[in-house]
Amino acid sequence: MFDNLSDKLDKAFHILKGHGQITEVNVAETLKEVRRALVDADVNYKIAKDFTKTVKDKAIGQDVLSSLKPGELMVKLVKDELTSLMGGDAKGINLSGNPSVILMSGLQGSGKTTFSGKLANFLKNKKTKKPLLVACDVYRPAAIDQLHVVGEQIGVEVYSNRETKDPVKISQDAIAHAKENGFNVVIIDTAGRLAVDEAMMTEISNIHKAIQPQETLFVVDSMTGQDAVNTAKAFNDILNFDGVILTKLDGDTRGGAAISIKSVVDKPIKFIGTGEKMEAIDVFYPERMADRILG
Ligand code: GDP
Repeated sequence: MFDNLSDKLDKAFHILKGHGQITEVNVAETLKEVRRALVDADVNYKIAKDFTKTVKDKAIGQDVLSSLKPGELMVKLVKDELTSLMGGDAKGINLSGNPSVILMSGLQGSGKTTFSGKLANFLKNKKTKKPLLVACDVYRPAAIDQLHVVGEQIGVEVYSNRETKDPVKISQDAIAHAKENGFNVVIIDTAGRLAVDEAMMTEISNIHKAIQPQETLFVVDSMTGQDAVNTAKAFNDILNFDGVILTKLDGDTRGGAAISIKSVVDKPIKFIGTGEKMEAIDVFYPERMADRILG
């Protein structure tokens, strides 16, 4: 995960580690390399620039140059800043409702259906949760079938209704069904399109207003880099969502989305998807991720 970025950051720190005497010039050079590594990893230029400025200010504030181990202190400052950029502490999902309704949003292909299954499986394994999956993609029959396959695989019931093209009605009926049948979590998988468009935004916004979910999650493919961040912004403007799910982190992704998304939408990444299997889900811990990035 993020091997390229990790390598480049490692090289940047070599600049510091390689010198007997560390000077302001070495520190500036290192930070320039850090910024370049971030931009190459698809982090927005302004975010990368602000990042290195913050680290530089802290380095001056903590008098890094006269510390015993300046190289290590610089790595720590970069790690702390990466952690804070990615969200600080890990944030869970709100499961206080009965049922707790979780609305999934995102573009087609981002991994919504797969993640809905993973989350249902994750919650089901907690024993106190009985999730219901809801198929709300009324345009693609294959999407409904896909959710049924997922549900069968993990032993979770899937609510669908092929008779209507009204996703608001399906969601409301599903919540009523959950109440009647003792499901305490309802995960609603919605229709996505290949790009942000008005019809999709209106539809998801209507569902959101009608059901007032405890948790609205935005699912995004981490491979899409800066586009991921732009899409997040568009969805957040409409939905004011609660958290981000970053999928496909097992692929050859550069890391820009993971690093930039929080500072653009000011919402935490809550889970990551690390594969196609139902078990490939992890809670997102910013500090652990920063540790991995810095090797
Ligand atoms: P949706 O259109 O948003 O519902 O997206 P899908 O759930 O159908 O996922 C699109 C494709 O991405 C499928 O082939 C999934 O198997 C794949 N996929 C989803 N999540 C992950 C992940 O975390 N890692 C990998 N490698 N593939 C994933």
